[in-house]
Amino acid sequence: MGQALSTQLATLVLGREARQRLRASQALLVVLVDVLLSFICAFGVWTGLIDAHLALAWSSLTLLGVLTFYAVIRSGWNERLSPTDPALTMVQGVFSVFSTVTAYLICGPVRGASLLAMAITLVSGMFALKPGQVRRLSVLAVLLLGATMVGGHLRWPDRFPIAEEALHFMMVAVVLPAIAVLAGQLSTMRHKLRQHRHDLEQALEHNRQLASRDELTGLYNRRHVMALMHKEVQRAERSGRPMSIALLDIDHFKRINDSCGHAQGDEVLKAFALEVGATVRDTDVLGRWGGEEFMVVLPETDAAGAACVLDRVHERMRNLSFACGSEARGVSFSAGIAAAAPGEALHLTIERADAALYRAKEAGRQRSVVAEALEATETTALAQAARPVTSCAP
Ligand code: GH3
Ligand code: MG
Ligand code: MG
Repeated sequence: MGQALSTQLATLVLGREARQRLRASQALLVVLVDVLLSFICAFGVWTGLIDAHLALAWSSLTLLGVLTFYAVIRSGWNERLSPTDPALTMVQGVFSVFSTVTAYLICGPVRGASLLAMAITLVSGMFALKPGQVRRLSVLAVLLLGATMVGGHLRWPDRFPIAEEALHFMMVAVVLPAIAVLAGQLSTMRHKLRQHRHDLEQALEHNRQLASRDELTGLYNRRHVMALMHKEVQRAERSGRPMSIALLDIDHFKRINDSCGHAQGDEVLKAFALEVGATVRDTDVLGRWGGEEFMVVLPETDAAGAACVLDRVHERMRNLSFACGSEARGVSFSAGIAAAAPGEALHLTIERADAALYRAKEAGRQRSVVAEALEATETTALAQAARPVTSCAP
């Protein structure tokens, strides 16, 4: 209950989208820091070190500014106003530099403390800005503070004595550029880390591909096809819908290798895979079973339906030719089809498809043979009767 409320509150204050939430939370952190600085200012007023009117004006303007940044981010305007820097980091940085310089002007004898706030501005920029941006911000800060110190001394020499201003300026001129250099190093490290993560993700993706794909044809490899087949068998068992498999084997492929070369054999395998893939349905699973053998898994399809699909593949192969030396050659295949019987172990269905393939080869190749259905028990007969029989008709 409490957690739900805090989640709702967080969504209200920060929004839903992860990146916008981060930006809004960073803007709110700046608001918090400036609220605390305003309290410190109030303490300065109470002790008589800071003028009350000036402190009030500074706090109001600064808080109004940072709250405006938060509102712009929370409303989503930032993405339209500044697509290149949607976190508005650079604008916020410049605002912060001006606000701190103003604080330096109004803080009287304790103005040196405001230089700390300038350091915070640059340090927070380290995490979001590019090194060049932090450099520019530090140059702006040094120049603006320098000009303020000179201007302050010329206008109010008693409040801004030359020795103190020189000391402050020297500190600023050393510390701020040093932070800019550190920011550059941090940014390089961040960039390298991002690059490493990207490389790692690519390597992982490549590994995933290697684990499930055949390198030559890009089809699923045998292991992955087996896993998918198991899933399809379970689905078919649950739904009572039919499911078939077809084992395809290119005819006399050895001859292609021997007379056209192994490289051309590889090309034929790739072209064959493409043709089969283009003929079967999107819901069918096609994989390389090994060598010149391919497996097609046909969900929601009985043996007759699978035979129709294979007929289309045979038809398509008749139009496929490849160059072997100066002559054009065709490629054919034989196939064994088996419909998974209810309750049948997958390896037995595969064995039946393999036996049917053998018979297709024996019968003269370039054909499909459907494996005989398992001896039907009473239940399987009932199950068979409930199955829709796919016909070749469109
Ligand atoms: P059948 O009609 O009886 O299937 O005869 P076949 O010549 O196709 O069968 P066989 O098993 O005798 O030969 C298969 C050949 O496929 C032998 C093997 O070198 C070749 N082969 C297996 N994998 C690859 C491959 O990745 N690339 C190439 N180019 N050839 C391969
Ligand atoms: Mg073979
Ligand atoms: Mg073969």
